[in-house]
Amino acid sequence: MTVLSLHNPATGEQIGTLKEAAPDEVQQAVEHARRAFAGWSKTSLADRLDLLAQLRLYLVRHGEELAQHISQATGKVPFEAYMTEIFVTIDTIRFYEKHARRMLAPQKAATPLLLQPKKSYIHYRPMGVVAVIAPWNYPFQLAVIPVLSALVAGNTVVLKPSEVTASVGLLIEELFRAVPFPEGVIHVVHGGKEAGQALVASRPDKIFFTGSVRTGKSIMRAASEHLIPVELELGGKDPMIVCADAHVERAANAAVWGAFTNSGQVCMSVERVFVHESVHDHFVALVTEKTRALRQGFPQSAEVGSMTFPDQIPIVREHIEEAVAMGATAVLGGDIPVDGSMFLPPTVLTNVTPNMKIMQEETFGPVLPIMRFSSEEEAVELANSSPYGLNASVWSQDSKRARRIAEQLESGNVCINDVIISFANPHLPFGGVKESGIGRYRGPLGLQAFTHSTSVIHDPGKRRRELNWYPYTEDQQTMMSSVTKWLYGEKRTLSVDALRAIWREFRRLR
Ligand code: NAD
Repeated sequence: MTVLSLHNPATGEQIGTLKEAAPDEVQQAVEHARRAFAGWSKTSLADRLDLLAQLRLYLVRHGEELAQHISQATGKVPFEAYMTEIFVTIDTIRFYEKHARRMLAPQKAATPLLLQPKKSYIHYRPMGVVAVIAPWNYPFQLAVIPVLSALVAGNTVVLKPSEVTASVGLLIEELFRAVPFPEGVIHVVHGGKEAGQALVASRPDKIFFTGSVRTGKSIMRAASEHLIPVELELGGKDPMIVCADAHVERAANAAVWGAFTNSGQVCMSVERVFVHESVHDHFVALVTEKTRALRQGFPQSAEVGSMTFPDQIPIVREHIEEAVAMGATAVLGGDIPVDGSMFLPPTVLTNVTPNMKIMQEETFGPVLPIMRFSSEEEAVELANSSPYGLNASVWSQDSKRARRIAEQLESGNVCINDVIISFANPHLPFGGVKESGIGRYRGPLGLQAFTHSTSVIHDPGKRRRELNWYPYTEDQQTMMSSVTKWLYGEKRTLSVDALRAIWREFRRLR
């Protein structure tokens, strides 16, 4: 039996321990969820949304204490825990309460002339048991929002939270006990890689994974064995393009917040900044001044907290050291402690080049590397020269230019004159391209992704046969080729012989 240690990364204090679920317990959770699916999938959407409303009220009532707990488990400052974990979840629930009916209602589709008088529509059917595997950087919302999305769509769920922030997993388990969801509809299995592997091997009907590219690929390989659909929300190396006509102070404020919020442990952190040469020095001066003013620590009043996962620290150090060895300048910070401290100094790097790890690989720490560009084409090329494509930002007061650049970026999401904020709009689908992932969640597409869309074509059923059915005749062939020419060709005429053949064929239908 493996025991997970629960601790506060900022203070090192141990908060408790937790038993890891064994593979057979994970399997049992999936089987239990499968049995519960029969009932849950038949409950009305109104009843499901009613439970969500109860959850929303619980979160509103207990939001501050939950945020304190998340803060203790992650080292993020309480304001960030409230804003990015609790508020975002509450807001998403409200979005489902208002819009899920429309998003899950059958949708009419057009029917071409040749198929008349049939009608067509798309029906959304729940998939079964959804496995949600979550990371440690936003351990609450990145677990709870996919779980709720799956539940709203009529699925049952087995959630495996991250072992790094296991106490948040316990918190989520308590949350789902506090609101009376029917027995078996949501299970939380605690543990690390082995529990995650056991969950994938238990053949859920869909896997929703948020985490690293490496794990995402390994899950996709395992899922392919049984063709289990996977949705992968993976890492990023988000570029920020600051044009000559940007509001430079706003851009500098955004760069500092975008790089250092949650100590840079955000999949959409600003990890690469490209600034037009005409405003580069001014931008760097502002960023340096604003970074120097940040308050770091763990009290209520701090702005930058600690790192969450000790294993991330050597990666951050390696990226900075390599960059400096290759000619980068640490304008601020740069010395990553080797004494086990989880507080990393916010670091601003200039003179970076695209071949450095700091500009290629996900750093996931409080580092802001800045480089200059001289033309729009160069900025787009630099931004796109990355294996990732999660989010990006473009900074310009010329809307046409900003949109022109935004539309050339190889990215699942783009912000104009803002950073990271894409996720805050639940109407927008969220997800990555390239190595940042597969699939979308949030928005109508994101909710429908937890369903099988069934295309239904409905004939009134009054005629004896169809034009394309047996027995085949010469008239059928004449009719098909002449109608094809009439509908799709250059000369839109029908010969008398063709009209006669069509007439005879239509008579055979009755
Ligand atoms: P990770 O891949 O190490 O772990 C994520 C989860 O997968 C954990 O619960 C872990 O226990 C589990 N796991 C590990 N190996 C597994 C396996 N072989 N089979 C099944 N489950 C397994 O990721 P992490 O370090 O927790 O998270 C950080 C990463 O997540 C970063 O790369 C970050 O960019 C990314 N992320 C992406 C998004 C997004 O929406 N795109 C959001 C947040 C974080």
